[in-house]
Amino acid sequence: MICAYIFVLCLIKKMKNEQRRACKCGNVDFIEVTKIEAAFNLREKEIWNLKCSKCGGKNATSVISNSPEIDKELLQIWTDNLEYLFCQQDEELSLAQYSDNIDLYIEFIDDDSVPLEKKKVLIEALCVMIYDRSKKTNSDEDKKIVNKISSELKKRENQVISAQNWIMDYIKKVSFPIIGIQYFKESPNPNSINEQVMNTETEKDTIWNKIKQFWK
Ligand SMILES: [Zn+2]
Repeated sequence: MICAYIFVLCLIKKMKNEQRRACKCGNVDFIEVTKIEAAFNLREKEIWNLKCSKCGGKNATSVISNSPEIDKELLQIWTDNLEYLFCQQDEELSLAQYSDNIDLYIEFIDDDSVPLEKKKVLIEALCVMIYDRSKKTNSDEDKKIVNKISSELKKRENQVISAQNWIMDYIKKVSFPIIGIQYFKESPNPNSINEQVMNTETEKDTIWNKIKQFWK
């Protein structure tokens, strides 16, 4: 009976999403938010500007959110809204925390309705998963995950190559050879290539002008 009670309490705690707003006076307010609001930090600005329940001031020192687990529902909302991020920085690291989601990520990578920008983040997250596990002690479970992801990404080699400029070099250096894709240390920057082409053309023009002048 007690166990059942504790289980229900844990379940309520797990379902509840809240953001903690710490005030300069030392008080901490807990503000309940929805799962979607918590996942994408949608109410962060508003919560920063709330009045403290103790001193009435607006001097918040931090607003911290407990992120819900990334599931199919959240992933769908994320792909439908380009501006929604699971994390302001390095959201691929947040996505890479859920190895149970590998099939789900592959499903979204194969879905034509998913924007390219989002597919690239998912590919990057899968590369991070390979990186993390190949750096560990290499348990059978880790090996199974690495093999699964690398064989799925190898089947989608062109997509991985088109995402490579988004993936950090140290992640590529470890994950690409495992997938069986050639690793380019310096990702070609399309601007610098254009510049090189333009410079070469200018040089050619200059030489051609000199030749023309010579024969005048
Ligand atoms: Zn206060």
